Amino acid sequence: MEAGRQDYDLLVIGGGSGGLACAKEAAQLGKKVAVVDYVEPSPQGTRWGLGGTCVNVGCIPKKLMHQAALLGGMIQDAPHYGWAIQPVLHDWRTMAEAVQNHVKSLNWGHRVQLQDRKVKYFNIKACFVNEHTVCGVAKDGKETLLSAEHIVIATGGRPRYPTHIEGALEYGITSDDIFWLKESPGKTLVVGASYVALECAGFLTGLGLDTTVMIRSIPLRGFDQQMSSLVTEYMASQGTRFLRGCTPSRVRRLPDGQLQVTWEDLTSGKEDMGTFNTVLWATGRIPETRSLNLEKAGVNINPNSQKILVDAQETTSIPHIYAIGDVAEGRPELTPTAIMAGKLLAQRLCGQSSDVMDYDNVPTTVFTPLEYGCVGLSEEEAVARHGEEHVEVYHAYYKPLEFTVAERDASQCYIKMVCLRKPPQLVLGLHFLGPNAGEVTQGFALGIKCGASYVQVMRTVGIHPTCAEEVAKLRISKRSGLDPTVTGC
Ligand code: FAD
Ligand code: NDP
Repeated sequence: MEAGRQDYDLLVIGGGSGGLACAKEAAQLGKKVAVVDYVEPSPQGTRWGLGGTCVNVGCIPKKLMHQAALLGGMIQDAPHYGWAIQPVLHDWRTMAEAVQNHVKSLNWGHRVQLQDRKVKYFNIKACFVNEHTVCGVAKDGKETLLSAEHIVIATGGRPRYPTHIEGALEYGITSDDIFWLKESPGKTLVVGASYVALECAGFLTGLGLDTTVMIRSIPLRGFDQQMSSLVTEYMASQGTRFLRGCTPSRVRRLPDGQLQVTWEDLTSGKEDMGTFNTVLWATGRIPETRSLNLEKAGVNINPNSQKILVDAQETTSIPHIYAIGDVAEGRPELTPTAIMAGKLLAQRLCGQSSDVMDYDNVPTTVFTPLEYGCVGLSEEEAVARHGEEHVEVYHAYYKPLEFTVAERDASQCYIKMVCLRKPPQLVLGLHFLGPNAGEVTQGFALGIKCGASYVQVMRTVGIHPTCAEEVAKLRISKRSGLDPTVTGC
């Protein structure tokens, strides 16, 4: 075994959103920092570069493919606005190549940034030897020992294969593969009903592919369920098929190469069957803790979730070892929270600040064909916490101006603001379903973080004509029973 440098102030395991942010911040504040990152190829053999899930197989390629699908919708709108459009075809290969080239440029950018900040980067797979030392193995089998005063674990997670289903591993793909396919996935079955499933099904449908989503229970568990229903209603109106209350039992490859999927209808108990070109498992993610030898360092995990137990300071059971991002128990699996947690941790380690990450009121957006942005409590959570009589919900069905000329159906464009009933009616949650929901929600998230009340939102002057201004015009309460459909300007 080759002895590596053993004198880092900080060693970060995992070069994804959280790890890179933490490493760069600590280096900028004068620490001697190393990052180790290694991508285990997916079971289908897909591999990628530095930057973690978000850059390579998550947010970035997903949003770009979502954009490709939205463009298809705009092309359909265009003739209403006077554009003469020839029959339009979509070419997966061109899109995928462009998306992959962008991702590769980001991989390169991350390497340059590490170099500029003098962070030492090792492309090795790390596991603990003891509480201050890790051993990393490179692709060629070469081993390197690294030790540090502080160690941050930011190894994220990987898609979960439902291996109990015959043929799942052999014939299925996951979000680790879909963005790197050279050819169109064709007719696709997406299994699962959360962010990944609905977002992928949304853009596949938008690109003109025959797409079915298999939901075993409810869509978007944990989100406001009225909003979730509207999300899937809109997707169905755009052509996504839904098989509800079903779970797959078998996948087989037919002689013509197609995949035959057998599933069970959980209500009737009956079996059914269909053929697809691709089966995409979007059945959740597993934290990357299994190969870290955490027991050698004494780092405790939750045996059920396999995630690392941390306190408010992101400290594990060992005082100089920390965990941030998707691998840490109880944290939202989102890029901006991993980044902020990493930066704040670095600042604390460098004595620059004592601020800890505030995981309350984290905004998020589900990039489905009609985007769903939210921040704060769902209506169900607000009622459970405060009691129905203490919660006031203001809501509106609105029509985005751009939908009018294009004669688009806006039945699912909906906003609701969940407030305390007692004046000045503190805003507990905001839910926005419509175009550019991420952009809209980001701004209001600041207000909610600052403790905005319903009264203050109503005094906020709108920007006309936008969809966001509808938030500042929410006058109808659910309790009133009045029609919440916005009419006129
Ligand atoms: P990661 O980014 O996963 O990085 C972990 C890194 O550690 C990886 O490079 C991994 O290969 C490496 N690693 C693991 N084990 C080892 C080891 N033993 N040694 C060395 N290296 C190791 N979030 C959003 O906010 N917005 C979105 O729109 C969004 N879209 C998403 C879409 C999809 C399809 C998916 C799957 C996720 C999406 N997310 C989104 C979630 C977001 O990508 C993650 O929350 C975020 O990347 C987590 O960052 P992290 O630093 O915890 O881990
Ligand atoms: P989730 O854990 O959120 O959801 C898993 C889904 O798979 C659920 O619908 C679950 O159903 C279903 N499921 C699990 N096992 C089976 C099975 N055996 N058969 C059928 N269905 C099954 O995982 P995701 O991968 O969607 O997302 C992981 C995280 O990534 C999210 O929590 C999010 O934080 C992040 N992310 C963020 C995005 C964004 O910000 N826009 C986009 C994508 C991901 P059930 O409810 O019945 O258990």
